[in-house]
Amino acid sequence: MLERAGIIDYNGHCSVRVGDNRILINIGSCPRSQLTSDDICAIDLDGQLIDGKGNPPLECHLHCAIYRARTDVKAVVHAHTKWTTFLTMVGRSYQPVYAQGSLLYPVPVLDSPNSINTRAMADRLAATLGDRPAVLMKSHGAATVGANLVEAFVLANYLEENAYRQYMATQIGQPYVFSEEELALCREKLWTASLFQRTWDHFRAKLI
Ligand SMILES: [Zn+2]
Repeated sequence: MLERAGIIDYNGHCSVRVGDNRILINIGSCPRSQLTSDDICAIDLDGQLIDGKGNPPLECHLHCAIYRARTDVKAVVHAHTKWTTFLTMVGRSYQPVYAQGSLLYPVPVLDSPNSINTRAMADRLAATLGDRPAVLMKSHGAATVGANLVEAFVLANYLEENAYRQYMATQIGQPYVFSEEELALCREKLWTASLFQRTWDHFRAKLI
């Protein structure tokens, strides 16, 4: 679903927490456009393989560090997203320009393009994320987190769509940015399990 939605390509990964010290994540070598259950492995929060037919991605540290830092997080998406990364490439901040995208605002930015393939980089990323639902990585990509898989997936879509709209609007003018009152209203009305599920169902249906 992440690949069909244009969030990930031949890179990128998604994980879910399934125990105190156990997460499921796609293996690094799998084709993201044709994922099967054989492409999912289990690792612990130090990134060590517990079970599976392949190795976790090199950036699995990103997931492990976020789970260690955030007990509320049960799912993580990391992607080398296009539109959000266009913004960080030129130092332009993510602005809330459409309703769903405002749910993620403000989005902190890791000030490094380096791969999150060490524990030290991953801890730095988790610290940058803080208690937010998303983090951008300068000239690299983005990560979203959620209380479940649906949240992490849906937020990744909202994040990219907002960045796309911000980028495109900037081509013809200065986009309108939501006010504090409008942001609060969006959070109140749009951050609901039923709307997240509807977004998930929309993308899920495209697989059938
Ligand atoms: Zn990456």
